[in-house]
Formats: sequence, structure tokens, C-alpha cells
Amino acid sequence: MKDNKIGKTVDLRSDTVTLPTFAMREAMFRAEVGDDVYGEDPTVNKLEEIAAHKVGKKAALFVSSGAMGNLISLLTHCNRGEEALIEDDSHIYNYEAGNIASLAGVMPRIFESNKGVPSIEAIQKVIRDENIHYPKTTLLCLENTHNLAGGTIVSPQIMKEVCQFAQQRKISVHLDGARLFNASVALGVEPKKITEHVDSVMFCLSKGLSAPVGSILAGSKEFIKNARKYRQMLGGGMRQAGILAAAGIVALEVMIERLSIDHQHARLLAEALTMIDGIKVDLETVQTNMVYIDLSELGSFVSHFSNELFNNHILVSQISKYQFRFVTHYGISKEDIEYTVDKIKEIIKII
Ligand SMILES: *Cc1c(COP(=O)(O)O)cnc(C)c1O
Repeated sequence: MKDNKIGKTVDLRSDTVTLPTFAMREAMFRAEVGDDVYGEDPTVNKLEEIAAHKVGKKAALFVSSGAMGNLISLLTHCNRGEEALIEDDSHIYNYEAGNIASLAGVMPRIFESNKGVPSIEAIQKVIRDENIHYPKTTLLCLENTHNLAGGTIVSPQIMKEVCQFAQQRKISVHLDGARLFNASVALGVEPKKITEHVDSVMFCLSKGLSAPVGSILAGSKEFIKNARKYRQMLGGGMRQAGILAAAGIVALEVMIERLSIDHQHARLLAEALTMIDGIKVDLETVQTNMVYIDLSELGSFVSHFSNELFNNHILVSQISKYQFRFVTHYGISKEDIEYTVDKIKEIIKII
């Protein structure tokens, strides 16, 4: 491998590669802990309290991953054989190994969004009327920010309208808010403004917020009481989990506001990449910390692109044959973005 001038790997694959900060490691070292399955870990209890408050819910549950949080939510909301309305490009439908079918026994019914933004019309189309032949529709799942659409934001207004519509139809709403704080920071609103009308929300501590492990599921007291049982059923009771929760508390206290820096970096990257021949970027979708590019104009040379990036110590995610994703995060500086843009210009020139 060639040396790059900054002497490190620029890892833009995902914000999940973020490493815990010094403050987190120190908090982990000092964490007061107990057996969380007995409800006796003071650090987990504190994290759950702070987390519930942040999203305006009565209670919260610390879970080991976002996928586990979403699964527990589906198990808690739905009985087996019931139907959940799920967006076509959502994480739950595409990237959770089919857990809702295999483990929750829930029927997914798919609706389409416009760049991650749902509409009442699209949802209405897939709601079934009562009929003895049909499964019961119990739940609507939303995603904010929307990962596969480019990290796009669903505004509090649309969240409200869609949730109120679902609730009129006696359908509960779960929000996959893995990157909820990216949305709230980008909009300059409190996260609870976005989650106000949902029945449950999951968000990740381990992505842009840089905690090593963990996500939160929040909802009503009753909902979380039931969810806690499902967490146990899945083997997700973690004993002295305060070691991990301590990092989560630091994440919520000091890592949220700085997400705006990641958003600036994504914007910088996207705007520079649109100027390069052969690269297509939909700037409209660059709203938070992600940049998706389309390289179909390169045809079969696309494999050179990813190889050359790799040779220059730049890592990105390949989403499909011609689609690549760059995610900015705590480990990425402005210099890293400039280095990446320079290298991509060189690479495109030689292929
Ligand atoms: C990452 C992600 C998840 C799952 O989180 P894990 O902690 O990786 O299991 C769920 N939903 C969305 C939108 C995500 O981006």
C-alpha cells in the first residue's frame, strides 16, 4: 500500500466505526455497576432515565444493538401473524436478517416513500379494511433519518401527520431513529419534537454518538415493562451493563451537538464530488452525515474505483454495483475530506 500524506486510514464506511472517546473510557472505568437484570445497575438506570427524557417518553430500555431494539419493539407491539407496515428501503425490512419474520412472526406489508419521507397516501394504500381473511394491521414503522435514502430527514410536521393518521386507524407507530440526533441537530429542534407522536422509538448510541456498544428503546412505562421481558427472552439481559451504559451517558451528554460538524463535512464532500465528471450525487438527499454517489457512467471501470480508493487508504461502502456510500463521523476531519476529494479526482482521471 502507498502511504497517504495523513498517515491513516480514512474510514468512511459507516459511523459505526467510531471509537469510544477518552471521556467515555474514563466513565467506563469509574462506572458504578450492579446486576441490571435485577434492576440494580445504577449506571444503566441513569442512562435509561436520561434517554427517556431526551425523547420525551416515560421509560427506556438499554439494549445491545439497534437491530435488537427494533426487534424487541416489534415483538412488544405485535402478536404473531399480525401485520406491520414497513417502508420498502427501510433498515428493518432490508438489513435485519429477516428477524421480524423469523423471530417475531410478523407479516411485513410494504409502502414506498419519497427519498425516505413517508406520505399518508402511500400508507393509506396498503392499510387493509377489516375482513376475516386479512391479518390484523397493528404497527407502522418509520425511519428517521432514513439510511438508504441518503440520511434524509422526516420533518416533525410529517411525523405528526403520519402518526396521527395511523393512530386514527388504531395502528401504533414505531420509529427506527438509529440516527435520530442527526435529524434533530440538522433541523435545530429538540429530539422529542420528532418523537412526540410515536409510540416507541429506538436510537443508537454506537453510531455518530461514538459509544462502543448499545441502543435505546423508549416508550410508555407499560410498553417498556413488556419490552424488558422480550429483551430477557432474547438473551439480552446484560448484568453489569453499567460499564457500557457509562459510555452511553457521555454520548448523550457531549456527543450530540458535534454531529453538526459531521453534517458540514458530508456537505463539503458532496459538493466537491458533484464537480467531478462521472460522479452523480443527489445533493437534495445530503441532509445529514451521508453521501451516496452513483458511478454508473464509469461502467465496468467501477471496480478500479473501489480498488484505487482502497490502495489510497480510503474505505467506503459499496451499496450496489454502481452505488457507494460515504459516512462522516467523529473520526473524520476536514483534512480527511480534502484528502479523499483529491484522491478521487486523481483516480477518476486515470480510469
Ligand atoms: C444501524 C441501523 C440499525 C441497526 O443498528 P445496529 O446497532 O447496527 O444493530 C437500525 N436502523 C437503522 C436505520 C440503522 O442505520
